[in-house]
Formats: sequence, C-alpha cells, structure tokens
Amino acid sequence: MAKFYSSLSEIKGGLQSGKITVEELVKDYLSQIEKNAHLNAFNEVFGQEALQQAKDLDKRLKQGKTGKLAGMVIAIKDNICYKDHKVSASSKILAGFKSIYSATIVERLLAEDAIIIGRCNCDEFAMGASNESSYYGPVKNYADETKVSGGSSGGSAVAVQAGMCHAAIGTDTGGSVRQPAAFCGVVGLKPTYGRISRHGLIAYASSFDQAGPITRSVEDAALLLEVMAGADEYDSTTAQKPVPAYAADLKKSTEKKKIAYLQESISSPGVDSEVKNTLINAIDKLRAEGHTVKPIAFEYLDYLVPAYYILVTAEASSNLARFDGVHYGYRSPAATDLVTTYKKSRSDGFGKEVKRRIMLGTFVLSAGYYDAYYAKAQKVRRLIQEKTDKIFEEYDFILMPTAPEPAYSIGKEVTDPVVSYLADIFTVQASLTGVPAISLPSGNNSKGLPLGLQLLAKHFNEQELLNFSKYFMEL
Ligand code: GLN
Repeated sequence: MAKFYSSLSEIKGGLQSGKITVEELVKDYLSQIEKNAHLNAFNEVFGQEALQQAKDLDKRLKQGKTGKLAGMVIAIKDNICYKDHKVSASSKILAGFKSIYSATIVERLLAEDAIIIGRCNCDEFAMGASNESSYYGPVKNYADETKVSGGSSGGSAVAVQAGMCHAAIGTDTGGSVRQPAAFCGVVGLKPTYGRISRHGLIAYASSFDQAGPITRSVEDAALLLEVMAGADEYDSTTAQKPVPAYAADLKKSTEKKKIAYLQESISSPGVDSEVKNTLINAIDKLRAEGHTVKPIAFEYLDYLVPAYYILVTAEASSNLARFDGVHYGYRSPAATDLVTTYKKSRSDGFGKEVKRRIMLGTFVLSAGYYDAYYAKAQKVRRLIQEKTDKIFEEYDFILMPTAPEPAYSIGKEVTDPVVSYLADIFTVQASLTGVPAISLPSGNNSKGLPLGLQLLAKHFNEQELLNFSKYFMEL
C-alpha cells in the first residue's frame, strides 16, 4: 500500500533517518500508477528514467549535496515541454512529437532535484473542465471512478490524489489547476500572471496561461512556487520582481483579515447546496475567529464567462495556427499538396472542442466582428480588473467556491457547450485579472466527493495568500 506523505518535509525526514530511499519511493509510486492505470491519469510514465534518477539522488543524498526538491517525485501535465520526451497536449495532432527543449519551469525543477515520473493526461490543448476532451479519454476521479477528475489538469490532480506521485504541475488558463484540485481534494495554486515563466508550455491563451503546483499541502505549493517563479529571458511577460522565499517564510497567518465573498455564491440557485454550506461554514468560522467577512456584489458577474471565452478562443485560434501538419506531429496521410496538408491534418488532428474554439476565436477576430466581440471583451476585461482592484483596496482576500458543484458523472450528456463553460464562473475572475488564487480542500460532501474553496489575493501577494491558506486549512 502506497504511503501518502503529507508534505516533502515528511519525506525528507524519512530520507534523513534512513527509513526510506528515493528509489523505494519511486518504486512505490510506480506500483501505485500500475495499480491505478485504469484511472487514465498518465499519458506516459518515465519509469526507468525516474528509477535511475532516484538511484543517483540516493547516492548524492549520502554526500549531502542535493537541491531543495530532493525526494519530491512529481508529474507534469502533458502540455509542458521536457527535452527529448514526448509532449502531446492530449491531442492527436501532436502524436509522436518530441520536445526539443525543456520548459524553463522543468529546468528549474530538475535543477533542484525533482524527479519527473511521467506526463499527465489533460483536456486537449487544456480546453475543458472535465478532462473529457482529451484524445486519450477521460481521467477517472479516485474518490469515485464514475466521476470526472475535473480539468483541464485532470490527470495531474488524480495523480496526486491517488498517490501516484507526490505533487504535480498543471497549467491554469481559466481554472485548470484549481478546479481539478477541488474535485480531487488537493491544493491547487494559480500564481499571479507573470510570476512563472510560460516558456515551454504549449500555449492556449497567452495572456492567461500560468503554470501552477498541485499538492497535498500548502507548504509544498509554496516550495514549488519558489522554485518555479521568477524572471526568464525567454518569456518577456515574466515579472522582474524578486522571488520571495515562499517556503521558508511560510508562516501560519495570525492577523485579523478582511475577507469579501460573492453574495451570489450563496444566493444563486446554480450553486450546489453542499458547496454553499461549505462556504457558509467557512465564513462562520472566520467570523468567530475575529476576521471581518462581508458579502459583496460583483456587478460584472454575468460578463465573466462570456468575456473569458471570447478572449481565450481568440488567442487560441492564433496560437493553434502553428499546428499545420508541416511543423509538428501528425500529418494526414490523405494530404496531396500544401492546402490539403493543412486542411486534412487539422481536420483529423484536432478534436471537436478544439475545432469549436478555433472557429469561435477566428470569428470574434474577423474584420466585421472584431469591434463587436474581441475589442468589447477587452474593454470588459479592463472593467473587471478595475472592479477587482477596488475590492482589494478594501479587502485582503476574496473567498468563493472553486466550482459551483462537485465532480459530476463522466459522460454526462452536455448538448450545449455554454452549460459547461458556465461552470467556470468562479475560476475565471482570477484569470481575467491575473491575480493569484488558490483552491483548498474543504472536506467531502455527503457522497464522499471532495469540495474546494478558493481564495484570491492581490497581484503578487502569494506569500500572504499562502500564509493565510495554511491558517485556513487548520481552521
Ligand atoms: N475550463 C476552462 C476552459 O476550458 C479553463 C481551462 C484552463 O484553465 N486551461 O477554457
């Protein structure tokens, strides 16, 4: 039986006392991966390689020359490039493609002695919230295999939930780290836009995409953030701000805070009643502890999802133009010339959801509609940013559910994609505004399904967010 370590410091304790070795740890994870292969969390496992790295690390541990992440066995979402390893974004169009360089975050993680055990299933090109758009099929939730894992970093979340690795790295464009973390009962952090380099992530919507850790503890999230964060010459959108020692400075928050929560997350009929109760309980506890917790009305609530989907599909239609049957992966065998290479490779290579979004994005950017949709959505984004900044002038955090309902059944008939898009209501505000947000496990519902609550903080206030999260988890 695999042991679920709550944090890397617990693992380190075991390594130092000689109770365990990294090799044994990796073997444990590999056997857990094998036992749970039917959950479909991994697109590929780097078993032999991880074992070899573990042996080398065990030797170096004896010499005392190791990085901050020694003993941390992680999985990465399959849209993060790792040199000489395949990367597919769970799409047929990238079948067989190997990365020729590593993402900056991968280099930073490896430099601190993380071991990467495999690449995880996700929604195709990270488009989705249930992992069902993956070319490789849905990921099953470890808490209930008939339920979705959430998405798009579904495989990453289940890999952590089921003890197939200690932590995982996902990417979050509109909730893809936080929502699967909530569905799987683990911690998911989306840092401030620009805090972590996007170099080497397969782009979905470049003005939204951020990588983030999925972990079993706030402590590990802080540590992984610390390792991955910081300026990068290969990504001009990274902030030049120095990176705090998030992990070393992680202290359970002791001050009284001002917290806002969205009135609608309690009053709206669209929010599951047990999700509401979890939020109400948290509010009551915080108030009892002396924090100021007040409801706020967010007048742009109805515009969050439409603005998000117009902007991300526009960016996606541009980003995905490079998959043309010439440069990467799949080329249709039926292609006879350049135009049919493009057409047939893209028609066969992309799944339905990706095609829908490329078409929608192309439409909102087209000459006659640009002003009506794309330009307008940009203006709405600005209004949402200004309103959010205003809230943060008065409050330290915004508290809300991560998702309006717990994990739902795999294959639930969804005839209208807009219905699925609306489920992103609570996660896209942080994405549109670029502020950091964390999903924290908040118990299970009456059916044993995990629930998550989300906290948003001011730009670059990750330290305060993490400190408060640590406190919140022990409340
Ligand atoms: N569900 C959202 C979408 O489909 C978020 C996905 C993500 O964050 N990658 O766009």
